[in-house]
Amino acid sequence: MDSPDPLHQPLLDGDRRALARAITLVESTRPDHRDRAAALLDGLRDANRQALRIGLSGTPGVGKSTFIEAFGMMLTGQGLRVAVLAVDPSSARTGGSILGDKTRMERLSRDPNAFIRPSPAASQLGGVARRSREAVSLCEAAGYDVVLIETVGVGQSETMVAQMCDLFVLLLAPAGGDELQGVKRGIMEIADLILVNKADGDLKAAANRTVADYAGALRLLRKRPADPEGFPKALPVSALDGTGLEGAWSEMQALAAWRRETGHWDATRAAQAAHWFTEEVRAGLLARLETPQARRRMAEMSERVASGERAVRAAAAEMLESLRGA
Ligand code: GDP
Repeated sequence: MDSPDPLHQPLLDGDRRALARAITLVESTRPDHRDRAAALLDGLRDANRQALRIGLSGTPGVGKSTFIEAFGMMLTGQGLRVAVLAVDPSSARTGGSILGDKTRMERLSRDPNAFIRPSPAASQLGGVARRSREAVSLCEAAGYDVVLIETVGVGQSETMVAQMCDLFVLLLAPAGGDELQGVKRGIMEIADLILVNKADGDLKAAANRTVADYAGALRLLRKRPADPEGFPKALPVSALDGTGLEGAWSEMQALAAWRRETGHWDATRAAQAAHWFTEEVRAGLLARLETPQARRRMAEMSERVASGERAVRAAAAEMLESLRGA
């Protein structure tokens, strides 16, 4: 048998530097790094450690970093180890990150029981999902009890994050009027908990009204099989003064416990693994189209089809044949 990766044992021992280096490895696009990362992850499966994976989404300014800092400090105060990963697809497109600011979560980042990893700048969009999913696995292997996966309401990022989480939390700000802030139905359907932040001072009354609006809207949604009575739920919180954070954590624990007892937890994780396997195979097939040779061939074939020299289906079949074993 091959000897285990030098990062294997330090990771299992919870070494934060080893964890940071392992995540750098899964973020790399170099083929030798990718192979090493895949072998490392495979070897870590035996440890069979599970964290509570919590997805957290909200638009910029809603208070995600303030919330994560306060919530994270509360958890580490209870002796739990907390990892925070940011998933920011905007950084892949523009090279700029909404979530990557270094000054965010300053206190939590100094806490020895916390590990914070910003979104990598300018990674490939398709690579964001893989990197995040593998980083979550690495945090679990390193013995973190809770992994928070933070994202913004951009494109498909929320559905993607929901596919790698046990619970999904949507953070909202108090609404000015009685509108539901244009929150898309899709996101309501994946949220387990809607937390209306900034329920303090002058905003408290508006926050409570917003909670009532969402509680009403959530009751109209179709009941999901993986939910006990009363979920999904809407609650007011204040990340600034800490109000409601203990309550939100109790709800998350209650929901997680129910899902474990009823088998929904394992079933969801199994379905997620199958989903990511399919995605990985698809990504691998698409990557075969991206080699210089395949691109050249595609361009040639497409010209011949355009000029009428070849029929579409026959040309496509020939192209696909040429990709076999590529
Ligand atoms: P993010 O962009 O979602 O990460 O939001 P931030 O955490 O950076 O917060 C945006 C602004 O909202 C900051 O000025 C925070 O101080 C403020 N804020 C965050 N949470 C609260 C809260 O619970 N109450 C109030 N009043 N302000 C908050």
